[in-house]
Amino acid sequence: MQYFPMFFDINDRPCLVVGGGDVAARKVALLLRAGAKVTVVSPELGDNLAARHARGEIDHLARAFDEGDLDGRALVIAATDDKSVNRRISELCRARNLPVNVVDQPELCSFIVPSMIDRSPLQVAVSTGGAAPVLARLLRARLETMIPAAYGRLAELMDAFREQVKARIADPEQRRHFWENVAQGPIAELVFAGKEEAARAAMHKAVDEAAASDQPRGEVYLVGAGPGDPDLLTFRALRLLQQADVIVYDRLVSEEILDMARRDADLVYVGKQRDQHTLPQEDINLLLARIAKKGKRVLRLKGGDPFIFGRGGEEIETLMQEGVNFQIVPGITAAAGAASYAGIPLTHREHAHSVVFVTGHLKDGSMDLNWQALAQPQQTIVVYMGLLGVKELCNQLVAHGLPAETPMALVQKATTRLQKVVVGTLGSMPSIIETTEIKPPTLIIVGDVVTLHKKLAWFGGAESVGE
Ligand code: SAH
Repeated sequence: MQYFPMFFDINDRPCLVVGGGDVAARKVALLLRAGAKVTVVSPELGDNLAARHARGEIDHLARAFDEGDLDGRALVIAATDDKSVNRRISELCRARNLPVNVVDQPELCSFIVPSMIDRSPLQVAVSTGGAAPVLARLLRARLETMIPAAYGRLAELMDAFREQVKARIADPEQRRHFWENVAQGPIAELVFAGKEEAARAAMHKAVDEAAASDQPRGEVYLVGAGPGDPDLLTFRALRLLQQADVIVYDRLVSEEILDMARRDADLVYVGKQRDQHTLPQEDINLLLARIAKKGKRVLRLKGGDPFIFGRGGEEIETLMQEGVNFQIVPGITAAAGAASYAGIPLTHREHAHSVVFVTGHLKDGSMDLNWQALAQPQQTIVVYMGLLGVKELCNQLVAHGLPAETPMALVQKATTRLQKVVVGTLGSMPSIIETTEIKPPTLIIVGDVVTLHKKLAWFGGAESVGE
């Protein structure tokens, strides 16, 4: 993080703007909106600032900048077209630890001004740290359309009830849940619909009810995080990530996805390193129930889809036994992610009419699979957790009747920038993997559809090995 983001209270504070042109005028407008007492130093003023001066909105020192102008200021903005003056102001301010911004010269700034969405008292600021201002502006435009103007009024309503809610709902956790329900529920809708009186009444009622009830009841969200690319999360997964109190995750969940969690959520890692179980499944099941019973909203985040080789069913069974509320959010399973990003359709009119998902987990060096059912023509086989058993898989499928020329692909870290596709056949793959580096998580796809990879691979940057 290059800059520390913060919102600065300059209400009634003396601020200095050096320069009298259009650029200075824009900065002055912003400072005035934040309630600052603005002094402009400049031999001349442009029309805009001259008008403001005439209306008594700003003070004007009609001369060149002088070091003494900095005395007693809370903040300084330099907007002259003289580079040496700008530099001098920057240096003087830095020597005094006085926050300074030199317009369009980030290297001379001790603070920068973000793009802003103003729904006062709600404000959203966006910055790329000067790296790509256009991007910040585009994002701002998108946010503008996403945040209804009425959010400002909602924030005001919430502010009006703040003290009361604080006094009557003592538990901070319960209070936060209360506010989240206000912001996402019918009360917010009333405000958005312009029914402010009704919203107030509903608010009074909601506070009474919340104050009368005990601790909030916790719940568990069992959420599929998809195969890796954060863009493949569902909207619901994202929303729950941003409101959960505790996030219980494992190895397959990428850091980029965890970054989308609420800033102050507790993150609990329960992943398994191969052969080294950090937490047995039964303990995870009970852990989820235990945290939820403390009134927390627990998000159990799983790679891919929770109900495909995810043991989600076992976790839910325990929650049911323990009487804990839960909801399940599906995710894009690795097979779907890998297929799309590697350009290998899992079914195809000419190549495959069915697809089976199996686990290739090795037990005592072998896989417990119905080989006969797998070794069928016109069928795609997708193997999860099969990397250690590639040889066994190839041998068994050939022994049960699939031609050794049957194409197969290993898709490493599908949908991420580290995606790598290794293509071979049942006959050649055992020796290919001896010389090719390939890491978990890797998904195996067997069947004629793999031949389409050559034609359909589209995902940029992904490495493709073999033919
Ligand atoms: N519930 C998950 C699967 C968990 S089993 C899902 O629906 O995707 C773990 C196996 O999934 C890994 O061994 C690997 O075979 C596969 N896998 C998960 N994410 C993957 C990815 N990004 N790329 C390739 N394989 C992946």
